[in-house]
Amino acid sequence: MVRMRINRSATRKRRSHHGLTEPRLSTCKDCGAKYLRHRACLECGKYRGRIVIDVEAKKAKKATKKIAQLEAIHQEKTNELEAKEEDKKSVNNKSKVSSNKIKAEKKTKTTTKKTGKDAKKDK
Ligand SMILES: [Zn+2]
Repeated sequence: MVRMRINRSATRKRRSHHGLTEPRLSTCKDCGAKYLRHRACLECGKYRGRIVIDVEAKKAKKATKKIAQLEAIHQEKTNELEAKEEDKKSVNNKSKVSSNKIKAEKKTKTTTKKTGKDAKKDK
């Protein structure tokens, strides 16, 4: 037991202050988009009318990143296909091994179940 237990009422009173407030948004004077207060506008990259972020450069960067990601995914897929083709060649050897493994797992499971039942009986 916990020695100094707090009752439900105290817990709930403490948590009454844990609620999240909505983010403070305001509209950008330059482009009319909503932006977080005390932060630069992500649409035009301006803070208090002054350009802080090079938005177009960022967008270009994002685009290049996306393309790179897509290319990576495509490469992975092609690699998988190649691997599958290789698997088909060596399926005969692998299938025997895997079936043996499954049999072994089943055996272990049944033994564990039996032991569990025995333990219950002992009680
Ligand atoms: Zn803006």
